[in-house]
Amino acid sequence: MGLRRSLYKTPAQLRAMVEPGLITAAALDAVRERIAPGVTTAELDAAASAVVVARGAESNFQLVRGYRHTTCISVNDQVVHGIPGSRVLEAGDIVSIDAGAQFRGWNGDSAITVVVPGESGAAEAVASTRQRLSDVTEGALWAGIAALASASRVGEIGDAVQGYIERAATADGATYGILRDYVGHGIGRRMHEGPTVFNYRVADLGPAVRPGLCVAIEPMVTSGSDETFVEDDDWTVTTVDGSDGAHWEHSVAVHAGGIWVLTAADGGAAGLAPFGVVPSPPA
Ligand code: MG
Ligand code: MG
Repeated sequence: MGLRRSLYKTPAQLRAMVEPGLITAAALDAVRERIAPGVTTAELDAAASAVVVARGAESNFQLVRGYRHTTCISVNDQVVHGIPGSRVLEAGDIVSIDAGAQFRGWNGDSAITVVVPGESGAAEAVASTRQRLSDVTEGALWAGIAALASASRVGEIGDAVQGYIERAATADGATYGILRDYVGHGIGRRMHEGPTVFNYRVADLGPAVRPGLCVAIEPMVTSGSDETFVEDDDWTVTTVDGSDGAHWEHSVAVHAGGIWVLTAADGGAAGLAPFGVVPSPPA
């Protein structure tokens, strides 16, 4: 067993995390542009793969044993870890795309959720409820990232994420479930490393937030119960009650001058603005 990797990266290591983050963001941008009724999830995966390859990076998802794709794509009652394939998207479907890239030995990891535009397919009310689920989940992600900017312990992220979801549920008169069996993580030389980043309140607040910390924050939220099962493909995580799922994720660096969202082209400026947090790039 090798030396235990430090949770805290050097300034040079943080700078090396910027490019894989931007490549991951570009891959998801390409997917977003392709999303339309009639497109298969395999075609979306190909769009992401083309960007990763063109930028001289490799898919870090393909470094996970047994996985052959650049993305995970999860539709409707699937929350995470869906396998791209022949499924044809319909207007009104809620689609979560998770992607990552490894570049010069460093990793990015990010996820977005999109409701497929168009008039056929799911009723307008269904599509609008699904868009709200995505918006709430994305808002919870930004609340978690904003909390990181002033947190002293990693566990404060989950407190902020859960608090945001609870306030949204009250405001909407809706039920939202936060998956508890799946969590965020540290990121660096490996896509998944310590520390664990919970999307809910935990008694043990975990390690200190200090310059050099790099984490992937990734709330996974349903429009019902948080109970899930793994489908027969051994990957896809689907809700037991058939409710819809949404998943948003960013990789974020903490440095001496503040925080920087590595997988957002603007470093998170737009997403953090409502929280009064101004990101700055690692120097
Ligand atoms: Mg991910
Ligand atoms: Mg992740």
